[in-house]
Amino acid sequence: TETSERLQVVFVGHVDHGKSTLLGRLYADTGSLPDGHLEKVRQICARQGKAFEYAFLFDAFLEEQEQGITIDTARTFFNWQNRQYLILDAPGHKEFLKNMVSGAARAEAAVLIIDAQEGVQEQSRRHGYLLSLLGVRQLTVAVNKMDLVEYREAAFDEISRGSRHFLRELNLEPAHVIPVSAREGDNVAKPTRRMPWYGGPTLLESLASFQKLPARSDQPLRFPVQDVYKFDARRIVAGRVETGELRVGDTVVFSPSNKSSVVKSIEAFNAVPPEAVGAGRSTGFTLSEQIFVERGEIASLQEMPPEVCTRFRANVFWMGPNPLSRGAKYRLRLTTAEVEMELEDILTVTDAVTLARITRCDRLERNDVAQVVIKTRKPLALDRFADIDATGRFVIVDGCDIWGGGIVIEPLKDSQEPF
Ligand code: GDP
Repeated sequence: TETSERLQVVFVGHVDHGKSTLLGRLYADTGSLPDGHLEKVRQICARQGKAFEYAFLFDAFLEEQEQGITIDTARTFFNWQNRQYLILDAPGHKEFLKNMVSGAARAEAAVLIIDAQEGVQEQSRRHGYLLSLLGVRQLTVAVNKMDLVEYREAAFDEISRGSRHFLRELNLEPAHVIPVSAREGDNVAKPTRRMPWYGGPTLLESLASFQKLPARSDQPLRFPVQDVYKFDARRIVAGRVETGELRVGDTVVFSPSNKSSVVKSIEAFNAVPPEAVGAGRSTGFTLSEQIFVERGEIASLQEMPPEVCTRFRANVFWMGPNPLSRGAKYRLRLTTAEVEMELEDILTVTDAVTLARITRCDRLERNDVAQVVIKTRKPLALDRFADIDATGRFVIVDGCDIWGGGIVIEPLKDSQEPF
């Protein structure tokens, strides 16, 4: 069958609440495991004298699919009704954050797993908080291990209320809260008769109801300039089409310089020059006029340029060995632009381990997540992460080391004070 689109879903939950089991069950019940895989894992379990576990199934599957992948977040996928589900499974919140802010992963939806016996735990809260920080809006809660509470409605209701309550405080509204048993397969990919009091969708149906975020190719053109090469008398602007499409004949504007010109030709090495280049492709192009553009600028179509500002509100995650101090100077990299920056203000700081609000407001310590105001020495072209993630994320660097990462919440008016 042909797959028309791909949805990226992250699964999170307190350790032992059943994430691996749920994923194993989901892959098995959607027929997504390779032929013989289920049997193989059953045999291995039998040989080792262990009871068969759906969690082993997923772990073994992971090992097979994972080979060669070096990023922290494992990715596996399954197909279901014309859609591919790419499952992001981060070992911990730190890895998850790192991957999200660095662009290695882009979660469009999330499943939060909560144990029906244990209820909302510290880690569940932390995961919910991280999802809200990263702007993941589509969320489903799976209340797992319903078999351990005899499939009772009252037990589910209590957990359901508790989870909705804490998510509301984070401004998150789950699309569904679903009673499941990963072990028995209830309400995962198949509906069950064991909980007649529940009339909502299965977990799989809930995933199917999530919207795909706009594809990179359907977003406005963003072409961060990597370099400008001189060839004979011509200047070739080189870079990658992050989003949208670059076409010969289009008028493009470069931000922040605000110069514009018409795309005269798209260059191709040893091939017929194309009329258009789509998202994800690296290319070079020439302009009708000789205007001066440089690395770090973003080319876009005139009607929908990025924002240009020297101040913006952002959520940052700090990983540096030393604290990130208010007023100190750092380098910020956003696509190909690199500018000097400082923290103007720290609005809220949270300890990612305890989720406790921290009152300290002069610096961020390692593993703090915070909402801040960043000021840059020179104007920067950017987008809100919620609109265009490719040009809405940045990293804070020290030489070659990435010390922090963040996403742009909103641009702010230029500061009256000098930098
Ligand atoms: P993870 O750490 O979140 O990946 O959790 P696992 O999937 O490894 O599951 C932790 C434990 O809970 C294992 O012993 C599972 O067998 C058990 N478990 C997971 N889901 C269920 C369930 O639906 N019912 C019952 N009774 N046990 C479950």
